[in-house]
Amino acid sequence: MEAKSKKAGASRLCFLCNLRRPVLKRPKTLQQICRECFYEVFEEEIHQVIVQNRLFKSGERVAIGASGGKDSTVLAYVLSELNRRHNYGLDLFLLSIDEGITGYRDDSLETVKRNEVQYGLPLQIVSYKDLYGWTMDEIVKMIGLKNNCTFCGVFRRQALDRGAALLKVDKLVTGHNADDIAETVLLNILRGDIARLSRCTSITTGEDGPIPRCKPFKYTYTYAYFKKLDYFSTECIYSPNAYRGFAREFIKDLERIRPRAILDIIKSGEDFRIATTTKMPEQGTCERCGYISSQKWCKACVLLEGLNRGLPKMGIGRPRGVNSDHNKETKKPGSVAKSIESKQCGSLDF
Ligand code: SF4
Repeated sequence: MEAKSKKAGASRLCFLCNLRRPVLKRPKTLQQICRECFYEVFEEEIHQVIVQNRLFKSGERVAIGASGGKDSTVLAYVLSELNRRHNYGLDLFLLSIDEGITGYRDDSLETVKRNEVQYGLPLQIVSYKDLYGWTMDEIVKMIGLKNNCTFCGVFRRQALDRGAALLKVDKLVTGHNADDIAETVLLNILRGDIARLSRCTSITTGEDGPIPRCKPFKYTYTYAYFKKLDYFSTECIYSPNAYRGFAREFIKDLERIRPRAILDIIKSGEDFRIATTTKMPEQGTCERCGYISSQKWCKACVLLEGLNRGLPKMGIGRPRGVNSDHNKETKKPGSVAKSIESKQCGSLDF
């Protein structure tokens, strides 16, 4: 009887330290662990991912894509902590994009400014208004709430590269976590976007572009760790509940039934191979702005042209108008029009 009650008591203790009460069950290992052990294994796992994948070299300048949300706040804290603890020798910077969304981005930029002071990381902010002449508030006023994330995502991708160039960094790190990657794998399958599917699980992308991007949280969930930090995050007021939202709910439902589902989706994406005979888009540069593009004009220029001509829908959807005018010679798989049309939330642009 005594042995039985001891066993029952032991099962309520943390699997790792056997001292404290467990507060969560890790989907990766199914172990029930306490908060302190979770923080410790989380940091150690990220360190191992960085070391095993040789993400950085000593002396590199690295920009942290900082939105003020949960993932990037955790990233800023953990990376600055590991850099100090393990002597990575990195020069870290915070890079934020100000899309011009009143009531959302102004608040979240305050969080990034707190990161700047608290973690001692220099901050660079680049705005859509300065780069493109439009804020997201103005764009939404013109186009409504249907395709706003398409504009925002395309502009952000380029804005991050331009901000990274201003900071003269060697790499950009983003806080994309396991949920984000699994969603993207699923969305790329649903869209039949082979080009993106083949690269969306890579821990480092864009090595042939202006700036390599690394995702040290690729196999990790950050929401439990976020509780360690004394921060709160806000949701974008223009966030749509569209395609990505449904994909997110779907994988969360799967996870409830099978906790490893998210990691398994990532594994499927990693093991995906493209037949060598498949024709892939060729990388070139935009004739208009010089940014990388597999079309004559990059996506940002196509969308901007539509906005400036007062015909914003011309940059969205099937090749008609602006898009077909400037890209008609290049009818390749994964055409600009198709991928623009299907993009929903650019904060998750890979
Ligand atoms: Fe931009 Fe994301 Fe807001 Fe969409 S949800 S408007 S992509 S910040």
